[in-house]
Amino acid sequence: MTNRAVTLLFHDVVPDGRWDSSGFQGADADVYKLDCADFRRHLAAIGESLRLAPTTGPALLARPSSEHPVLITFDDGGVSAALYIADMLEERAWKGHFFVTGCRIGTSGFLDRTQIRELHRRGHIIGSHSYSHPLRMAHCSMEQLDDEWHRSALMLAEILGEPIRVASVPGGDYSRQVAVAASRAGIKLLFNSEPVTGSHMVDGCLVMGRITVKRGHPPQRSAAIVAGDRQPWIQEYLFWNAKKVAKALLGGAWLRARVMLLERRTKRDAGPDSRIT
Ligand SMILES: [Zn+2]
Repeated sequence: MTNRAVTLLFHDVVPDGRWDSSGFQGADADVYKLDCADFRRHLAAIGESLRLAPTTGPALLARPSSEHPVLITFDDGGVSAALYIADMLEERAWKGHFFVTGCRIGTSGFLDRTQIRELHRRGHIIGSHSYSHPLRMAHCSMEQLDDEWHRSALMLAEILGEPIRVASVPGGDYSRQVAVAASRAGIKLLFNSEPVTGSHMVDGCLVMGRITVKRGHPPQRSAAIVAGDRQPWIQEYLFWNAKKVAKALLGGAWLRARVMLLERRTKRDAGPDSRIT
């Protein structure tokens, strides 16, 4: 089994700055969404840096690689996966991983059952992103964790007619217990958001890190990441750990402060009339 992989974490991709047209709503969700034209530039930059086409989780599990494979993942299950992302990946004959939030299936801005089935038919990987997308997954009880993974995996298995083996942790809020519960629900490969290329096993489930691509990140950063440049990983690692410390110290207050700051920024960016003084 390979123990290293470069996994990119995207969220929604929407046209013309229509951030509220796909996925979770609000300023804190929007910072993770890319414009279609911007996403296309990221794919082009990645394509120029790749030696091998991106692989998939199931392919990795079935056939370990000695290379440093690249995987492309999308969290939340927003409808932009079916409307834009899959087409853009397929222009390059690439496959994506789409992690779906169970309770959002078929609701406004999210994939419905037919679209999930269609993405799967086109060869993309469908995985669980929990049932309810808890804000702080690692703080859930074992009972809640079991319910989150079981319920979402069962829902998706019923839609696709086959077991769900791949998942990603909502909010990147990871603990060993999160992986233990995922494993009990039949998950064999669990992505968290730790900005690392290494992986480890928890109760028969392979846990892999990822590096997030946010709005405003230049395509050259994505190119450097897949080319094996360590600098973006180090920067992200320092940022991620500073965020973890803030979360641990402030808990729920950190989340509220973050939402407030982002809402202020959105209003300020919208123009002087809506500026908060
Ligand atoms: Zn998420």
